[in-house]
Amino acid sequence: MQTTIISKLPTVGTTIFTVMSQLAAQHNAVNLGQGFPDFPMHETLTGLVNKAMQDGYNQYTHMNGYPLLREQLALKTARLYGTSINPDTDITITPGGTYAIYTSLTTVLQPGDEVIVFEPAYDSYIPNIEINGAKAIRIQLTYPSYSIPWDEVRKKINMHTRMIMINSPHNPTGAVLSAADMQELSAIVEGTNIIILSDEVYEHLIFDGLQHESILRYPELLKRSFVCFSFGKTYHCTGWKLGYCISSAELMHEFRKVHQFNCFSCDTPKQVALAEYLKDVAAYTTLGANIQAKRDYFRSKMADTPFKCIPSHGSYFECYSYADISDEPDTVFAQRLTIDYGVATIPVSAFYQDRKDDKVVRFCFAKKETTLDMAIEKLKLL
Ligand code: PMP
Ligand code: GLN
Repeated sequence: MQTTIISKLPTVGTTIFTVMSQLAAQHNAVNLGQGFPDFPMHETLTGLVNKAMQDGYNQYTHMNGYPLLREQLALKTARLYGTSINPDTDITITPGGTYAIYTSLTTVLQPGDEVIVFEPAYDSYIPNIEINGAKAIRIQLTYPSYSIPWDEVRKKINMHTRMIMINSPHNPTGAVLSAADMQELSAIVEGTNIIILSDEVYEHLIFDGLQHESILRYPELLKRSFVCFSFGKTYHCTGWKLGYCISSAELMHEFRKVHQFNCFSCDTPKQVALAEYLKDVAAYTTLGANIQAKRDYFRSKMADTPFKCIPSHGSYFECYSYADISDEPDTVFAQRLTIDYGVATIPVSAFYQDRKDDKVVRFCFAKKETTLDMAIEKLKLL
């Protein structure tokens, strides 16, 4: 007899990142689609992992995360954002940023709850909301600045609004929230029971002298927030799938109930290594400038192609309009670019549920100069 199940995500297909990376591999294209660096991570950190393994740190560590790593993260939070957090109660190490986001949503959401999400939205957010029986209330960022229309947020809030999700620096656009945005957010949630989920995996990858407006700078907001991070993005090791979540002790207590029966504890030797590596403050404070140099290089070379830049101020990504090149749908254009021209990108309509198509594709510039050069030579043929 054939067994069947009822899909919890009936409308979901394969993530665009896998689709485009597979297409790139199949056609031997330069992959500026999926967001991962093609340059090596720092050898000090890989050395520390080897050492941790050789020193015998190979069994389960504490379910909330290796204690010395949580201590270092609390020190970093105080140093960068001026906020004191308790490493025992306010931080949990997770297997990646995506898991931290999923766990935060699962901790909070009840069927029928509403979550305000800004589009374009990182592709895991809405399925993560819906699998919990909640409803995503989508608000489009204003094109092409990709800023938040706060008046619309105010209009969409009602008694069912349970959470608001923010992401700065933003994937896919590289937009960055300002202090004024944080004031709008504070005013909107004040006196409500709304929880904020802040995806800050690109916290260090911020450019042009801008300051990262972390929720961690705002202790009043932090009381009602889950703030999610990824070591993969910070230290150029996306394959490690290690991250963390910071919240108030009360919210974190509930988060850990979900976490303990889903994952329990994360990779020990990498946590031991990171606890040591975090003592090197320059290793994370210089990241923004290093990645900005790549953005600048990419942007200056892209000026020789027919693409129009939509400036990024953070993340691994910059979006470009191809409206002057073609009126094809962005998915078709991105496929053709991969197959016929040998450069893979991500069509930005993939970040909208209704597949809004502004004729924009996202490029990942976190690559070696030679990789970027190779891609640009191909793009010049358009
Ligand atoms: N949020 C955003 C906006 C991202 O781009 C990513 C990409 N990796 C993640 C979360 C997830 O990070 P991780 O790989 O650590 O799960
Ligand atoms: N965050 C990366 C991106 O936006 C990819 C992560 C993934 O493939 N799921 O490209």
